Amino acid sequence: MHYRGRFAPSPTGPLHFGSVVAALASYLDARQHQGEWLVRIDDIDRLRERPGSAAQILSTLEHFGMQWDGDVVYQSQRLRLYQQALEKLRASGLIYGCNCSRKQIAAIAKSGIGGFIYPGSCRDLNIAQTTSHSLRLRTNNLYTRFDDRILGAITQRIEFEIGDFIIRRGDGIISYQLAVVVDDHEQGVTDIVRGEDLLLSTPRQIYIQQLLEIPQPAYMHLPLVRSADGSKLSKSSDAWPVDIKNPVRTLNQALGFLGQQQVRADSVEEFWPQAIRQWDIGAIKRVMNHETG
Ligand code: GLU
Repeated sequence: MHYRGRFAPSPTGPLHFGSVVAALASYLDARQHQGEWLVRIDDIDRLRERPGSAAQILSTLEHFGMQWDGDVVYQSQRLRLYQQALEKLRASGLIYGCNCSRKQIAAIAKSGIGGFIYPGSCRDLNIAQTTSHSLRLRTNNLYTRFDDRILGAITQRIEFEIGDFIIRRGDGIISYQLAVVVDDHEQGVTDIVRGEDLLLSTPRQIYIQQLLEIPQPAYMHLPLVRSADGSKLSKSSDAWPVDIKNPVRTLNQALGFLGQQQVRADSVEEFWPQAIRQWDIGAIKRVMNHETG
């Protein structure tokens, strides 16, 4: 199958170093496979969006010489697609309305790998599925598994480790988990390369793919760039915006973070062909083993 990858930033601020690493890795992997590379702006949650940052992210990518295929897609313009998928999930009978507040959940739920494990309080209450309530997807305890191209076999029992999760929030916004699955499928994405902060979400996304009967893409989760205190960098907290004055140096720093050989180049035009040739996933695995070993 022809390789199609993507980079899908949320426009919550300028690109930080962690998102440059994700952009570079997804780009190099796609181009080394002679594949396409799409850019999608994940702006479904307009409340978190910082005005102007989508344009700023795109101009940084251009400045770095990263050329995307086709038009940039914006989640905010695709609500109809998400709604159709929601209706399909609803037909499976696995969606239910939930009126628990965060406070109520915090008072009774156990903490798990990704925050509180939703204890299923509203599962059988038949709460109306109107926009004033959130909608959750009923999960199960089967092992959801996939083979990550870097991390190997990953398994998760979603009900036990995460709990029934939100598909549409109480304010009517479709969850990231559903939107990303619908988009990647609709855009024909075959390979997802992204940061390890999304590793815990992947089984939920695979579960949604199974329910919607759509094929599962290949996944590769990259080591996370952390700030000095060990926390994850996030665009919304102004963490470490990248130096765009010296793109080759910034790109080489991203290569270095992923254990790749440096590229000697005077311009981004010179940088990419060599970086694409040298791209080596084995080197990422070696950096990670070194860190954990
Ligand atoms: N929009 C998500 C983010 O910026 C990434 C989505 C994805 O790669 O699946 O964290």
